[in-house]
Amino acid sequence: MDGTFSENDLSRVVAADKAHVWHHLSQHKPYETSDPRIMVEGKGMKVWDQHGKEHLDGVSGGVWTVNVGYGRESIANAVRDQLVKLNYFAGSAGSIPGALFSEKLISKMPGLSRVYYANSGSEANEKAFKMVRQIAHKRYGGTKHKILYRDRDYHGTTIGCLSAGGQEERNAQYGPFAPGFVRVPHCLEYHAADQGAPVENYGEWAADQIEQVILREGPDTVGALCLEPVTAGGGVITPPIGYWQRVSEICKKYDILLHIDEVVCGVGRTGTWFGYQHYGIQPDMVTMAKGVASGYAAISCLVTTEEVFNLFKSDASDPLDYFRDISTFGGCTSGPAAALENMRIIEDEGLLENTTKMGDYMLDQLRGMMDRHAIIGDVRGKGLFLGAELVSDRDSRTPAAEKQVGAVVADCMAQGVIIGATNRSVPGYNNTLCFSPALIAKKDNIDHILSAVDSALTRVFG
Ligand code: PMP
Repeated sequence: MDGTFSENDLSRVVAADKAHVWHHLSQHKPYETSDPRIMVEGKGMKVWDQHGKEHLDGVSGGVWTVNVGYGRESIANAVRDQLVKLNYFAGSAGSIPGALFSEKLISKMPGLSRVYYANSGSEANEKAFKMVRQIAHKRYGGTKHKILYRDRDYHGTTIGCLSAGGQEERNAQYGPFAPGFVRVPHCLEYHAADQGAPVENYGEWAADQIEQVILREGPDTVGALCLEPVTAGGGVITPPIGYWQRVSEICKKYDILLHIDEVVCGVGRTGTWFGYQHYGIQPDMVTMAKGVASGYAAISCLVTTEEVFNLFKSDASDPLDYFRDISTFGGCTSGPAAALENMRIIEDEGLLENTTKMGDYMLDQLRGMMDRHAIIGDVRGKGLFLGAELVSDRDSRTPAAEKQVGAVVADCMAQGVIIGATNRSVPGYNNTLCFSPALIAKKDNIDHILSAVDSALTRVFG
C-alpha cells in the first residue's frame, strides 16, 4: 500500500461503513463487536485491507471477476479517455466503444452475431428470459414460453432470476416466484449414485433427465433451456463426458433455444474465451458479465445468433414488433471501453494459454492433496476455475460440516490468502472450496494458495 491511508482516515471510514453500509451477503450482528473488512488497494493478484494487511487473492475479487488482475492502468486510461469524450448516451443510439467491442467479442464467438448491452449478470439473464417470452408470443401464440433451468445452477439475484435458481439456500424466504420456470436435474458426476444414476454413461443419463422433463411439460410449451457451462456457486460442477452433446441434440430436437449463462466462465476463466467452447456446441443465446471488463466497469452482455435477432426485425406496422427493453446504464460507454482493453490484455499477454497451463497444474496439485486429506472427496474444474468438495465420509459423500468449511476459508484468510466456499451442508448439496485466481497467476502464486489450503485443512481437520 502507498501509505496515504492514515489512522485518522481509517477510523472515519470504518465508522461511516458501520453506521451506513449494508454489506452484501452479510449478517451484521457481528459488526456490533468487530469491524468489517474494507479493501483499500489492489495490484496484480494482491489486495490490501484497511490495516495494510496483504492478501493473495485466490478468487479474483471474491466472486470470479477480476480476470486480468488489479491495478491495470491501461484499462483505467481507456475508461478515462472515453469518459471525457462521451460518458453516456442512452436509448436507441449506439456508441464507438459499443460498436468496437461488439465486433471484437463476436470475432471470438463463431455462429453468434448480436450483442445486447446491460450492467449485471442478472440483468443480462432477465433480458434473455424476456426474449424467450417474446419469441413465444411472436411465433407460437404464447405457448412455448417455459424456461428450463437446472438444479444447483444460479442465474442471478432478481425475482425473475431466482425463479430460475437451483440453489435452495439462495431462494429460501424470497418466494413466491415467477411462473413458467421449470427445474431439471443437475449433472454432478461425483454424486451420480446419490441420484440413483448409472455411473457408466452418466453424461447421457443426466441429459436424458432433461428430455424427460421436456416430455412431461410438453415440448410445445418449452421455449428455452438455460444452463451454466461449468456450474459456479452450485459447487464448481464440470459437465460429464457426453452431456453437452446430448443436451444440444435435445434442444434441436424440440426446437428449444439453448441459453448458456457464461457470467462466470465467460472471457477466459476456463482457458477458452467461453466455457461452452470446450464442448463443441452452438448456443442460441449467451450471457456474460463478471470477466467481461474484470470489474473495471459494470457491463454485461447478451449475445445472440442472427436468427434470434431476425425474429425481432420486421418492417410490419405492428408497434410491438421489436425487443421493447432498455437499461438506463446500458448507455454507459465506460463498460465497452473497459471490456475492449480487457480483451486486448488477455490476447496480448497470452492469458488463455496461461489459464490452461496454471489450471492444469493447480488441478493436479489439488488431486495430489487428496492423499494427505481424506476430507477432500472430489476435485474438479476447468482452467482457473476449480473446486475441492469436502466430505466427512468418502464412502457416503456426506458433506463436511459447514462450520468447518468456513473455518478453512477463515484460516486461509488469516494466512493472507483469500479462497471461497460454495454452498451449505444442506442434504443433497455439497461443500466445495473454490479457487479462481486471476488469469495472470504464476506457479508461485498457485503454490502459495495451495500451501495455505494444505495447512488450513491440517489445522481444521487434523
Ligand atoms: N449467473 C451466474 C452463473 C452467476 O454466478 C452470477 C453471479 N454470481 C449471476 C448470473 C448474476 O450476476 P450478477 O451478480 O452480476 O447479477
